[in-house]
Amino acid sequence: MDEYLLIQKYFSNIGSAFLAEHNVEISVGDDAAVITPKDNIQYIHSVDTSIENIHFLSSMAPEDIAYRSCSVALSDLAACGANPEWYSLAITLPSPDGIWLERFSSGLRDFSDEFKIPLVGGDTTKGSLSITVQVMGTVKKGEAILRSGAKPDQGIFVSGLIGEAYLGLKELQNHKDENSNCSAYLRPKAQISLGRALVGIATSAIDISDGLLQDIELVCKSSHVGAKIYLDRVPTSTNDKSVKVINSGDDYQICFTAPMDKSMEINQVSEKLEIPITQIGLTTRSGKLVLLDELEKEMVIFSGFKHF
Ligand code: ADP
Ligand code: MG
Repeated sequence: MDEYLLIQKYFSNIGSAFLAEHNVEISVGDDAAVITPKDNIQYIHSVDTSIENIHFLSSMAPEDIAYRSCSVALSDLAACGANPEWYSLAITLPSPDGIWLERFSSGLRDFSDEFKIPLVGGDTTKGSLSITVQVMGTVKKGEAILRSGAKPDQGIFVSGLIGEAYLGLKELQNHKDENSNCSAYLRPKAQISLGRALVGIATSAIDISDGLLQDIELVCKSSHVGAKIYLDRVPTSTNDKSVKVINSGDDYQICFTAPMDKSMEINQVSEKLEIPITQIGLTTRSGKLVLLDELEKEMVIFSGFKHF
């Protein structure tokens, strides 16, 4: 199959129902996409590469590989409180396998339909499987939630459950139970609605990709604050609240800080979106991250995922 036909067949018309609402005039097929900017907005841009057997397992369904690669990229936009607008995809493939591509394309469609954004372009090359997704979103000027906005004595909150993707991945690797629920790993949800709802409430936010504690440390560094985290308050589905379970990453939940007098508003957001939100600690003036056990004794922290 030649490259032109491959792009036509598997990468055009994905999310095209949403082109007009995002002002995309020209999409896949020309030399480049043409998009008209809206008034009084800021672009929120991010790009993420997913590599076989590092960011996903090669044994995963092609639909899930596509969805996961896109959703983890979009998760950065969720953490900024952005509205997603469109995405592009650079894919490197070992061979043009029609059945695999058809299924991959179907995963892209699931993603586009869920977040109502079109695929507007990309690049296709030959080599070992690697997927780079660029996402663009918008906020009203000044609205973006940054890592740098936390102040001392604010609450530290997380959405959902932590450690689900780690536990799911372990089951996938062990092939223990064909019916086991690994969706947290296979199809992590970018928390776009939550990010939007936190605009005006959260003082800082980050999506948890590399490990809860490690990612909180990044917020601390950017905001020049410290943090104390109570391990037994971290929401998990298992009784094993070990550092390993909570700090392995791949959660794609949102961790944010907010003044404690926003607690009522945070509860309302949680109820409205039906997303659990749990306070797991407080920011401090100390400049360092401290993990406390149930007796409030300081614990040793092992690091989460590191690329290098
Ligand atoms: P060029 O050689 O001029 O870069 P390409 O053949 O790479 O052109 O791309 C042709 C068109 O197809 C462009 O609009 C490009 O954005 C789109 N495209 C190529 N690969 C992909 C892909 N994997 N996903 C979406 N669009 C793609
Ligand atoms: Mg190209």
